[in-house]
Amino acid sequence: MAASPSTTGPAFRVGHGYDLHRLEPAPPAGRGRPFILAGVPIDHPAGPVGHSDGDAVLHAVYDAIAGALGEPDIGQAFPDNDPRYDGADSRMFVAAAVELLARRRYAIVNLDVTVVCERPKLSPHKRRMIESIAGLLGIDASLVNLKGKTHEKVDAIGEGRALEVHVVVLLAAS
Ligand SMILES: [Zn+2]
Repeated sequence: MAASPSTTGPAFRVGHGYDLHRLEPAPPAGRGRPFILAGVPIDHPAGPVGHSDGDAVLHAVYDAIAGALGEPDIGQAFPDNDPRYDGADSRMFVAAAVELLARRRYAIVNLDVTVVCERPKLSPHKRRMIESIAGLLGIDASLVNLKGKTHEKVDAIGEGRALEVHVVVLLAAS
């Protein structure tokens, strides 16, 4: 494919991000942090276990964008043994992805998010999650899609002990 005149890279780049976090009750019963997904706090008795705030959607968004650009993944860019990221607000990772896009001169064509999670039910929160992602990326909400799926009660995800997220993003040279 011909490169855009404004960049030495290809005109389009596709990326996939994946993340999984265990879900546990809040301390002292478990190590779960407050349940927050796509930057939206959701009332739920269990929450993600993680070094940062455990927001799997925002982590997968970062990895999809970084992956499309061939940049280091979130674990390399923000090591989980670095105390600076203990309990970190994951919106900072998306801000870093926006900086990567600007530096590499790419813009988001669209972004498709799939959350696999037995509970809580995400449908009442879907609109807010889409608007949150779009707002953090500085793009129109019509460019962001989010699907919630269950795991049919099987395996750790189906038993509510974990959730996973897939994100696919398409970038165009800007
Ligand atoms: Zn994560």
